[in-house]
Order: sequence, then C-alpha cells, then structure tokens
Amino acid sequence: MKVIKEISAVQDISDYYKCTGKKVALVPTMGYLHQGHTSLMIKAKDENDILIVSIFVNPTQFGKGEDFDKYPRDFARDYHICEKAGADYIFNPETDEMYKENPAASVVISGISDKLEGRIRPGHFNGVATVVTKLLNAVKPDKLYLGQKDAQQNIVIKKMITDLNIDTKAVICETMREESGLAMSSRNTYLTNDEKKKAAVLYFILNEGKRMILKDKNTNAEEIRKHVSGILKEKAPEFELQYYEITDNTELNEITDLKDFEGDVLISLAAKTISTRLIDNIIFYKKKDE
Ligand code: AMP
Repeated sequence: MKVIKEISAVQDISDYYKCTGKKVALVPTMGYLHQGHTSLMIKAKDENDILIVSIFVNPTQFGKGEDFDKYPRDFARDYHICEKAGADYIFNPETDEMYKENPAASVVISGISDKLEGRIRPGHFNGVATVVTKLLNAVKPDKLYLGQKDAQQNIVIKKMITDLNIDTKAVICETMREESGLAMSSRNTYLTNDEKKKAAVLYFILNEGKRMILKDKNTNAEEIRKHVSGILKEKAPEFELQYYEITDNTELNEITDLKDFEGDVLISLAAKTISTRLIDNIIFYKKKDE
C-alpha cells in the first residue's frame, strides 16, 4: 500500500489502472477509521481491482465553532486499518494541496442542501459537494463507496453526480453499528462511557418511529415525534434532540400524508450532548395504508 500526497500523482495512477482495464474504487473519509469505514473498503475492494482510500479532514465543511480543530486524527492507526482492509493507496493530501490560494469555484447543490443537517449547519453541504468533486476529479474512480450513516450527504452527492454528468457510480453501504445499536462514528470518541451507553437510545427511537408507522399505522408525525422525544428525555436526558424528521429519501421533503405515502421512508435525527453532536437514520419501505 502506498501513500499519495499529490493530486497529479493520484490522477496518473488512476489513469494508468483505468487504461489497463482495471476498475478503480474510492472510499472518501476524514480518517480516524472504524469498522464503518472498513466495511466500505472491503466491499469496494471486493467489487473493484484497485482501492483508493482518501483521508482528508475537509475544513470547508465545518462551520464556525464546530469541531474542525479537535476532530480526531491518527494517521499511523489509519494506515494499518487501510492496509488490513486491502487498500492499495491512501490519498492523503495536505490542505494547501487540495485548496490552492484564493479559490473562486465551488459546487452548490441547492434545495436538498438546505434541509435537515443543512438547516443547522449552513454551508456544510457546499463544502461537502466541493471537496467530493475535487476528490472525484483527482481519483477519477469508477465507483464511489458511501455509508448510509450520512443519508443526506448521499442524496446530495448522488444529485451532484447526476446533474453534473460525473462519470462515477455511487454505491451506498449499510450503517455499521455497535452491539448496542449506536452507529459507529469517529465522533463517538468524544463521548464519555456513560454517554456512549445512553446514545444507543438514538437508534432505539428511530426504530420506534418505524414501528409506530408500520405496525401501529400511526400517520401523525407530530405524535411520533412527541413520543420519541419523551423516550429520549427519560432515558438519555443529556441528549438534546435537534431534529427528528420523517421524509422521503430523494427530495427530503417531510411526508405530510403518511397514510397515503408509498415508498422509502427516511427517518433522520441529530442529537447533541455537551461533548458532541451525533446523527443517525433509518430507511424502510412503506406501502400505502388500506
Ligand atoms: P467520515 O470519515 O465520517 O466522513 O465518513 C466517511 C464515509 O464513511 C462516509 O461515506 C460515511 O457515511 C461512512 N461511514 C461513517 N460511519 C459509518 C458507519 N457507521 N457505517 C457505514 N459507513 C459509515
């Protein structure tokens, strides 16, 4: 496994493999890797010839006062994880390699970028769309592997790929969870042991919403939200629920008529403690109620 720091070098490597008929996959990450990341790497390596993992903590997707400076970083640890998972290359550019002085171009995906996470983190998805475009132009992968954990990010990236005719296929992989149900995340390292135990309630309340919709045939989103907020308050009072939204999984519009809705339902949430902010989601298919 080799580490590449320059954009031109990774472009040359990708060109070389592609012109010899090899399939190139990219798993983009911000490092501090866990089993969620390795599950993407294993699938990507299994379905392609060459696996490139990018590790880059992208400053432009962090807002003021967010955790860019304290975001966990440990390249030596990540190196071993990538090697074990079968990566061929790590693309690990410095910030000044990715962002040259005074950049004037950026990528804006309007509409869906302003909902859910975008409402709380304005500008976040412009940063994501821009850095993913730059990574795609550097690595030129046949396939891009993303985790379901970041549902809205996936929708933004897929829309960008379609709208801008980018020649890459996005593959979405399931969310890896701790035994408790807590979604794995680099940010879980911020949690105290007690918070980590209690954070499992977040997955529980996602499933509780699904149960209410599918089993109880509850069509009142407000009632569902009230019920799950009550559970969170009781079981994990240190978590503040920032949103708990029931939407479709393409435009991220709130489903106002749950009874008549047929298709994939996305329930997503964000919750905050003093130490960190976590997001999670589930997707399930719903038929129109008889
Ligand atoms: P990050 O390093 O957090 O920016 O994540 C890089 C990629 O890994 C994104 O596509 C994430 O959705 C994915 N990812 C993060 N956590 C998980 C998880 N628990 N299970 C599966 N994929 C994940």
